[in-house]
Amino acid sequence: MPEVLKAPLTVEFPFTRSLGPVQSAFLTGLRERVVLGVRTGHGRTLVPPVEYDPVTAEEIHDLVEVAPTGTVTTWAWNHAPRRDQPLDTPFAWVLVRLDGADTALLHALDAPGPDAVHTGMRVRIRWAEERSGAITDIACFEPHDGDPVQAAGHSGVFTNPVTGIVAPARLDYTYSPGRAQTAYINALAEHRNVGERCPSCRKVYVPPRGACPTCGLATVEQVEVGPHGTVTTFCIVNIKAKNLDIEVPYVYAHIALDGAGLALHGRIGGIPYDQVRMGLRVEPVWTEGARYPDHYRPTGEADADYDTYRELL
Ligand SMILES: [Zn+2]
Repeated sequence: MPEVLKAPLTVEFPFTRSLGPVQSAFLTGLRERVVLGVRTGHGRTLVPPVEYDPVTAEEIHDLVEVAPTGTVTTWAWNHAPRRDQPLDTPFAWVLVRLDGADTALLHALDAPGPDAVHTGMRVRIRWAEERSGAITDIACFEPHDGDPVQAAGHSGVFTNPVTGIVAPARLDYTYSPGRAQTAYINALAEHRNVGERCPSCRKVYVPPRGACPTCGLATVEQVEVGPHGTVTTFCIVNIKAKNLDIEVPYVYAHIALDGAGLALHGRIGGIPYDQVRMGLRVEPVWTEGARYPDHYRPTGEADADYDTYRELL
């Protein structure tokens, strides 16, 4: 059996969100070195604050300042910090119930080692030198031997409040497609589409996942399909994706390759976007050295009859 493939896979995107009154006050407060919670109808103070009471679902907006000191309620040691984590040396992830709060906030605790951390230990906020209205305005927590610091009773009203944030999201994987898709990808490198047939319902899966989700059986019989196929359905993309050098509008389609029991995705080129239609016959276009088709283009054949692909939509 050939070696199963694996490769690094990074999923990364900037997530832009507006804050609403409660999160706006919380993050603006951090910028001003003030920690705000929100009080529920039952008198509990939630830090970090939320917009709706988790018990009654009532909208809540009664802001209350809590202290920058607190107590660790639970923790875990992070022996190998990753990129963009709060500290670049080993640290503890801690839940801290700040003095005056009834719930705990997740953050990092700067400590020399796990022996220096325990549930119940007293800590205080270490503020970041430069603050912009983000959770990272708290650089981390640090051990605190002194008395609780009293909150000043801030109203939660600020000039120039933060109203939105851009949170970069990034996930680093080592992705392995498994036995079935490894065979599929290796065949694609030779410009062949190889699916797998279910031994029970006879459906040919392209790309194959190694099992038939309907019958629950392993698929092992390899079946070459295509290269021609039929557009079963499609959409016109009008939003340009970052890092993708394709002019909009363009068409992204479901394409049922001849012999396949379901459709795969591909971009349609070689035809004006407003002339793409269900039933259009297409073939893959490969660029030099590519491991998968760049796009699909019309073959010039007559459109497929709806009945030939109605089960593949
Ligand atoms: Zn099946």
